[in-house]
Amino acid sequence: MSNHLFGAIRASSGVDDKPFIETLDGGRFTYGDLWRASGRAANALAALGVKPGDRVAAQVEKHPLALVIYLACARAGAIFLPLNTAYTPAEVGYFLGDAEPGLFICDPARREQLAQAAAAAKVARVETLGADGQGSMADRIAAAPDAFADIARGPDDLAAILYTSGTTGRSKGAMLSHDNLLSNSLTLRDYWRFTDRDVLIHALPIFHTHGLFVATNVLLLAGGSLIFMPKFDADLVMRAMPRATSMMGVPTFYTRLLDHPGLSRDATSHMRLFVSGSAPLLAETHRAWRGRTGHAILERYGMTETNMNTSNPYDGERVAGTVGFPLPGVSLRVVDPDSGGPLARDAIGMIEVKGPNVCKGYWRMPEKTEAEFRKDGFFITGDLGKIDEAGYVHIVGRGKDLIITGGFNVYPKEIETEIDALPGVMESAVIGAPHRDFGEGVIAVVVRQAGAALDERSILSALQDRLAKFKLPKRAIIVDDLPRNTMGKVQKNLLRDQHRDIFNTPAS
Ligand code: AMP
Repeated sequence: MSNHLFGAIRASSGVDDKPFIETLDGGRFTYGDLWRASGRAANALAALGVKPGDRVAAQVEKHPLALVIYLACARAGAIFLPLNTAYTPAEVGYFLGDAEPGLFICDPARREQLAQAAAAAKVARVETLGADGQGSMADRIAAAPDAFADIARGPDDLAAILYTSGTTGRSKGAMLSHDNLLSNSLTLRDYWRFTDRDVLIHALPIFHTHGLFVATNVLLLAGGSLIFMPKFDADLVMRAMPRATSMMGVPTFYTRLLDHPGLSRDATSHMRLFVSGSAPLLAETHRAWRGRTGHAILERYGMTETNMNTSNPYDGERVAGTVGFPLPGVSLRVVDPDSGGPLARDAIGMIEVKGPNVCKGYWRMPEKTEAEFRKDGFFITGDLGKIDEAGYVHIVGRGKDLIITGGFNVYPKEIETEIDALPGVMESAVIGAPHRDFGEGVIAVVVRQAGAALDERSILSALQDRLAKFKLPKRAIIVDDLPRNTMGKVQKNLLRDQHRDIFNTPAS
């Protein structure tokens, strides 16, 4: 048996002297460098006592060596566990205690703080890697031999555990197998036509599925190159476009680039593909981008637990406000959230998916795993949506964001779409707050366009004729911006906490 994921990457990647990673200042890290460095890193892992099946947790800044360590884990049969760099020592402590890794790699500047959390979780080894590529792990990698006999791993062996962002309750560790990652990346490579001529602007974080698996694995399997940026910066992305062919981003990348005076047809003429995902792309952003650049952004839908599920077509129409069709090999259905029974076309319900992309369950949480898979193997995504007559999938929001007011269901996306269409509105988020009479009352949190004369009264009255009475927001709150996480998702849980008492002022 070979090493399922790394064997496929090695077999289909580019020639050794081709850059895998380029930096804007002329740095090159070739495929040959990648094979040698990942061999050294796999030897370093083994020397540190990491055995096949062990977890390797890493809370490190974005540096090519972090990707080397990810591949080294695959080669050594270990399970890579990337952690968001924003997590506090207490949060890291929870993940280390839950995953029980044999090795934890962190930033040298945080070693002291985090070593305590690691000791409490009985992690045997703590090594370091900094944003500059320096640290004890980097030293160990540099000193180890290049040649490594890859550990045999089958399709169902675990390659990674990715913790979900966990806006309600504790984060859950999605167990991703070698084939979950490989099958999805091969599908995306072919669906989006990636080849060894592609150069991808990589400005996403690498602790999340989008930047780590979608962007990195797809380009590795195509033998293409990455222009690696430590983080998103509109000026740097504009500078990279003349030598790049493609970018994968979250919606905020696109809204920020639209604010850049340099964005034009000329500036994007070398690019062939702009992909968006991880959060809803406003139809307005899609149209504005097309108007300025001539490119139709390709929106796709996925999640930590499932990799990518749907995509707008490469050749056919990329419909703004939809996430396209189920990918080849992925079955997607929309069902009644309570009974799991079938629904008619165009009816809103729970999105469920099944396919080689869907994770093996949640790490050490058999009850949660059982609760989120149907008996026939479909995974309950928690996203509400519908499939339209043409087969395009629409997402209307997370199930937990559904508002039930006076016994009626209100889907926030429908209200947000109406509000966003009002003159002077930049964007909005609709949430429910506890209400004595109705159970929940609808609230709109609205961001105005600069200089727009818009107030609560004008928003509420403009919606009067557009929405059924039960859907009408009872309050509209004007704010400067919406709270978002690093992947561009609006954090509705924060808004709900903030406005929890808006209808029922607590007794003093
Ligand atoms: P994560 O596990 O952090 O990748 O988050 C996955 C969630 O992001 C999904 O369950 C959706 O709620 C949301 N999401 C991802 N892509 C899209 C998209 N294109 N449109 C709307 N929501 C999306």
